[in-house]
Amino acid sequence: MNKEELLKAYKDTFGEEGKDVFFSPGRINVIGEHTDYNGGHVFPAAISLGVYGVYGPREDNKIRLYSGNVDGDIVEFDLDDSSVEKDDRFWTNYFKGMLTYLKQREDGNKINHGFNLYIKATLPSGSGLSSSAAIEMLMGIILKDEFDLDVDRPTLARLGQRTENEFVGLNSGIMDQFACIMGKKDSAIFLDCNTMEYEYKPLKLGDYEIIIMSTNKAHTLADSAYNDRVAECGDALKKLQTKLDIKALGELDEDTFDEYSYLINDETELKRARHAVSENQRTIRATKAMEANDLEKLGRLIDASHVSLHYDYEVTGKELDTLAESSWKQPGVLGARMIGGGFGGSAIAIVRKDKAEEFKKNVGKAYRDAIGYDASFYDAEIVDGTKRI
Ligand code: ADP
Ligand code: MG
Repeated sequence: MNKEELLKAYKDTFGEEGKDVFFSPGRINVIGEHTDYNGGHVFPAAISLGVYGVYGPREDNKIRLYSGNVDGDIVEFDLDDSSVEKDDRFWTNYFKGMLTYLKQREDGNKINHGFNLYIKATLPSGSGLSSSAAIEMLMGIILKDEFDLDVDRPTLARLGQRTENEFVGLNSGIMDQFACIMGKKDSAIFLDCNTMEYEYKPLKLGDYEIIIMSTNKAHTLADSAYNDRVAECGDALKKLQTKLDIKALGELDEDTFDEYSYLINDETELKRARHAVSENQRTIRATKAMEANDLEKLGRLIDASHVSLHYDYEVTGKELDTLAESSWKQPGVLGARMIGGGFGGSAIAIVRKDKAEEFKKNVGKAYRDAIGYDASFYDAEIVDGTKRI
């Protein structure tokens, strides 16, 4: 999408000229799934599929939002309205949450007039590529820029997480928002979600590329299962804390976990915690493997991540398993796994560039045969975080 098209769409919608255009990326995650809210590491990157936003100020106190991807009219509410929309999937909650929390900050009274906002996504919604974080961070950067707010990017990420937790009811961690807003071109972010320390690592894949595959099965019904996983890990942690001085499962290496896992006297909780611990260690090892140019090892760790998400975390499902398992059988594939919350959504595969077309053809066919409808394949670039364009 180019700027002219977006400004024209704004004008067609609101009947006046828009002021500024912004872009907010979606994300992939190389490895480190369901580790963020367990105080472990993640390794995501922002992608060139995302959400554009055109902003125009208003003289009154109305907020008027329009999404070029949603059937329906302009949604209007008052600047002071911080009520949660009753339908928790209603898309304006993502904007309202950010607005509410930024207004509550010390310099929040700088947000002293309304605005129009037109958004249009190139990122499929509900496909595990973080369209929700993309729109939260879009709102955050627009408010920061247009009203000159004193708020840094990691804090905006936190407010996005709070929006998911409190406005949408999903007890998700910090990864999605952090990846969208802190993204850096051609790099992935190695983030320790326990300490919030992070490091950019160039995505050095040589003759290989990352292919994104969507199951085209929305994961929207997965919220309650997601919240169950968060609760199960919390219960396991409490049992370990009776003997161990730890704040998060991410602080444990596998040896210590094995030594104390007898405390977790519940099979389900034991499996969930085992994934949180092993996935965190795999993520640390994977970044080291990439730095050492050991791409074969990186690929094996990515495969192991999927297996652990299947057996221990039980968040894959037939669609994601079909994508991963058929990817593993293709020539020139280093590794493949589901990404995001699971139960639908998307997967990634690291594929030799000269095998990419054959890969998409074969996996596409295997998916159609097993599931009955098509998967989608995306080639995305790794880009910078949310910004004005
Ligand atoms: P994901 O973040 O993986 O894409 P979520 O379920 O977390 O999936 O977020 C999807 C929700 O985000 C949608 O149900 C919708 O409310 C909102 N959303 C995403 N993209 C758009 C868009 N382009 N316009 C309006 N709402 C959107
Ligand atoms: Mg989301």
